[in-house]
Amino acid sequence: MNQTIILQSRPQGTPKLENFKIIEEKKPEPGSGEVLLQAKYISVDPYLRGRMRDEESYIPPFKVGEPIDSMVIAEVISSNNPNFKEGEFVSGMLQWKQFQISNGAGLNKIDEQRAPLTAYLGVLGLTGLTAYIALDKIGKLKSGETLVVSGAAGAVGSVAGQIGKINGCRVIGIAGSDEKIKKIKDDFGFDGGINYKSTSNMKKALAEKCSDGIDVYYDNVGGEILDAVMQNINDFARIINCGAISLYNKEEMPTGPRLEGILIKKSALMQGFLVRNHVKDFGPAINQLGTWLKEGKLKYDETIIKGFENTPQAFLDLFDGKNTGKMIVEV
Ligand code: NAP
Repeated sequence: MNQTIILQSRPQGTPKLENFKIIEEKKPEPGSGEVLLQAKYISVDPYLRGRMRDEESYIPPFKVGEPIDSMVIAEVISSNNPNFKEGEFVSGMLQWKQFQISNGAGLNKIDEQRAPLTAYLGVLGLTGLTAYIALDKIGKLKSGETLVVSGAAGAVGSVAGQIGKINGCRVIGIAGSDEKIKKIKDDFGFDGGINYKSTSNMKKALAEKCSDGIDVYYDNVGGEILDAVMQNINDFARIINCGAISLYNKEEMPTGPRLEGILIKKSALMQGFLVRNHVKDFGPAINQLGTWLKEGKLKYDETIIKGFENTPQAFLDLFDGKNTGKMIVEV
């Protein structure tokens, strides 16, 4: 049989296990031009929460009663498609199913010799690309500048901080535990960190850690942490709005301080970023990330949860900060 995870109901506020359901189906058979794929690793990502709302966005919402999809690494089990051979590994936006059929559209072959399969969901996948391309297009780091990264121990944040160090910046990370702060300093070379959960005055803590002010802010969390960073930015600062996980489960959007005064006074740039708008840059970016990995300049971390049936829980755990690095399910 073949297990599939569907969206059972739309979450209200923080998602719960009851919003998901595992159903059993018959294992599918590939037709002409099709391949049978077996999921090996599933990426769970914060943005999937947005797709659980019945709202228009840059990507269509999930439908209640239908399978969730995300980036998946799968093995070709049998192939009636001349472009794919049995035993090859591919990545693509695939459904949360153990087995599924594809006509090959949107599948990318991945090379296990170059990097472990899971790296193609993290440092050499969309999260690594997000860190790299957003810093390249908006951050425009200069040696000696101060870069602050939130969600610093996570998939995007840990790579963004290391790219800051490669570019000669002073890098301060914000994360949700003392263990995570130790990790970003010891393993990823950040110069310092702030545990936002045990810090009552983030504005002051940032001013202390960033005595020369903040030149670039890589924002993965939004909300009050963004407000505190904005009070410490330098002239011509660049603020990358990459993610706002602190707001994803809110039913009512909180309002914060008005930012236009700060942006004008500091001649600062604040720009939203979506990695999907930069597909043409993926090739060169993966090459650069791969080179840094090989040279040992870039390290990566992942939290691997075993068991297909644990995919919903792994997704929920992102909102409790249970991961360091990329959160992945091993099917
Ligand atoms: P991640 O950082 O690996 O995991 C999410 C982390 O967010 C958790 O580990 C947790 O760490 C932190 N978090 C959870 N709730 C929080 C809250 N209320 N306030 C502050 N931090 C909170 O996830 P990721 O895949 O790398 O994604 C990071 C961000 O980038 C997300 O906002 C995501 O939506 C965004 N993103 C954007 C793009 C794009 O194209 N724009 C692409 C990929 C990802 P702590 O223990 O530190 O709280």
